[in-house]
Amino acid sequence: MKPIDYINREDLYGAHNYHPLPVVLDRGEGVFVWDVEGKRYYDFLSAYSAVNQGHCHPKIINALVQQAQKLTLTSRAFYNSTLGEYEEYVTKYFGYDKVLPMNSGAEGDETALKLCRKWGYVKKGIAENQAKIIVCNGNFHGRTITIVSMSNDPESFGGFGPFTPGFIKIPYNDIPSLEKALEDPTVAGFLVEPIQGEAGVFVPDEGYLKKAFDLCKAKNVLFIADEVQTGIARTGKLLACDHEKVRPDILILGKALSGGVMPISAVLADDDIMLTIKPGEHGSTFGGNPIAAKVAIAALGVIKDEKLAENAERLGKIFRAELKTIKSDRIELIRGKGLLNAVIIKPKGNQTAWDVCLALKDNGLLAKPTHDHIIRFAPPLVITEAQIKEAAGIIKKTIENM
Ligand code: PLP
Repeated sequence: MKPIDYINREDLYGAHNYHPLPVVLDRGEGVFVWDVEGKRYYDFLSAYSAVNQGHCHPKIINALVQQAQKLTLTSRAFYNSTLGEYEEYVTKYFGYDKVLPMNSGAEGDETALKLCRKWGYVKKGIAENQAKIIVCNGNFHGRTITIVSMSNDPESFGGFGPFTPGFIKIPYNDIPSLEKALEDPTVAGFLVEPIQGEAGVFVPDEGYLKKAFDLCKAKNVLFIADEVQTGIARTGKLLACDHEKVRPDILILGKALSGGVMPISAVLADDDIMLTIKPGEHGSTFGGNPIAAKVAIAALGVIKDEKLAENAERLGKIFRAELKTIKSDRIELIRGKGLLNAVIIKPKGNQTAWDVCLALKDNGLLAKPTHDHIIRFAPPLVITEAQIKEAAGIIKKTIENM
């Protein structure tokens, strides 16, 4: 089969809810992926920051295979020999009393919303069905009806109403707006991405998260961090909130919790919050399954063993410095933290960021535009200094030649 045959088959039988770059991948190892014709590419998307540990990391794959041959799923109707081990490991790793295991990032966010509302009624004493959660414009928390109800992006919410009530939308990176919204006594939580990934790696001002956290504390409001994309070493610290020494009341993780091996998400909180949800009130057939438990332990182990946060911090600086040497009027701005970076492309004629990504692909590097004019660069964190310099060279050559 030729690449076009694979593309046509997906197009014919799959829903058209994505617009992939025309490359058909067949194999991955570390920072590289290979297409069906054997051409090698640097992966500078890392499955939207899920493959932080690199493709097919042997320790994670070994954990997957070993557990898959022993016990895959019991549901939570019974105890099993792996879940407690994972729960102890992940809570000690991130420093929380309890974890609630789910699968996708969106489910993690949904779980955090339910937990926050429940806490609002049980602990804060908000009148029934009155709890509100403050969210930020430009957010991306997933695709469910409730989550798109929080979005101000017409592509996310358009045509999917009616929407879930109970959200107050404010501008991102805007402390006065948050202060004002917090005056409402029925507010139970503030949900925020420490860096808005899908919005185009929008990094808020230094001090924003800390100020927001302090304001929430003063009003007895839960600070909920969606670290599905920014967490697990991506931005140069274990969590992006660590840059400002903020410890979220509720922490949502996904993506790299499995190193991109399977969908694993988690919500972490202390007892005072987590124990407001009682047996039967929330759950998931696959959440915390034995394979996920073993895979997540292995994936988190790799992050520490291979010092991937430190690597992201160091190589992120080198990468941004290299990008700044690009001589082209096509680049408007370079921004990011650690190895979560973006370049804002100035349109030229009818050429957009998409055309830049096509040219990058031809030159052996895969990245994806977010919106028309932003390209996110987020390689696996196992990348070496020599590799990041080579990849930056590909980006430089491509943009300078356009
Ligand atoms: N939250 C954030 C910040 C994300 O970036 C994403 C996905 O990109 C999600 C939630 C949703 O995760 P999933 O696609 O696994 O449902």
